[in-house]
Amino acid sequence: MKSVCRLKYPLEWFDELVENIRAIWIKSEIEKHWAIGDLILKNRLKFKKPEYGNKTIAHLAIETGISKSTLYDCIKLRRRYPSIEAVYNEIPPGGKLTWRNIRDSLRKQRRRRVTVQERETGVEYATHNIRVFNNCLFNCRYCYSKLPLQRSRLNRRVPNPTEEAKLYAKDPEPKIIMIDFCCDPYPTKNSVTRKVLEILGPSAHQVMVLTKNPRDAMEDIDVMSKYDNIWFGSSVTSLYPLPKEEPKAPCDNPERIECLKIAKEEYGLHTFISTEPWLVWEDDSGEIIDLTRPWEIIEHTHSFIDYYIIGALNYREQLGYPPLPKGYYKHHIPHILYLLMKYKKMFFFKKELRINEK
Ligand code: SF4
Repeated sequence: MKSVCRLKYPLEWFDELVENIRAIWIKSEIEKHWAIGDLILKNRLKFKKPEYGNKTIAHLAIETGISKSTLYDCIKLRRRYPSIEAVYNEIPPGGKLTWRNIRDSLRKQRRRRVTVQERETGVEYATHNIRVFNNCLFNCRYCYSKLPLQRSRLNRRVPNPTEEAKLYAKDPEPKIIMIDFCCDPYPTKNSVTRKVLEILGPSAHQVMVLTKNPRDAMEDIDVMSKYDNIWFGSSVTSLYPLPKEEPKAPCDNPERIECLKIAKEEYGLHTFISTEPWLVWEDDSGEIIDLTRPWEIIEHTHSFIDYYIIGALNYREQLGYPPLPKGYYKHHIPHILYLLMKYKKMFFFKKELRINEK
């Protein structure tokens, strides 16, 4: 059955979600509520922005005929219990557990304190970040981690990635964890990042591996392909090598793209591209130099990439880049949006794209 809601994003996944929820609705009371909560949380990344969550739940309620409050009960149930077995383990010997009892206790439940150390990511598309290394040696010209303020922030804490991963692994509340947006997790192939993935693989979280060295990262593709919650991504700043901008990155842009293609086509991984920063400026003579041209990246990669993140070049002045041509992002975003919708891709536009225009 087709969705009747007019949502602003591709509807195929939404229709599928609606159909799956309808199929689960005929299961036993407790099981079906848990399964629906599980399904909604697994699709959470597709809700695009946290603030669209309520809207999507409202649309789901209309499509499925299940009330909004019941859908929220389902989510709370799944958040409290990582598996359906864990729900049944609550039943005292000889006792009875009904959906009504559980629902009442869920509704009384105050917001649970998160059991792991929360790390503010500073990025909107992930809720948490695990830093594996403290220094990145790739020396990208546009890297803001080398700016004094950012550097002192990073130096404030020594990374302890495996311990952090263990804490997250115990937390049943699903999160979106980046590895890593501050320092590349694959300076070279290494056992620490692999260990972190092994710990988080069986967890409830969406784990997003982001690297400019996918060649070495693919040494761990056996771990990544074992778990459905691990996504494999790379920063792609152009279709071409950019040695001046990324002098020491082990893989240039074409090789990163090639690795992602292999990851999708041969190993079936969820793949993403972070097209950030979008490298564009206006030189002294007024000529516009756009090295990134995100629409070209999308046209070239859409058959093997599931998710695109697009962000601006931040700290332009401090990093010594010329100014952004006036209205440039605003002018090109509709076309990029058109392509993403046409190819039915998940996407995220970072808010700096709007802020940088001002
Ligand atoms: S790979 Fe990322 S963290 Fe490393 S220098 Fe480049 S931008 Fe900075």
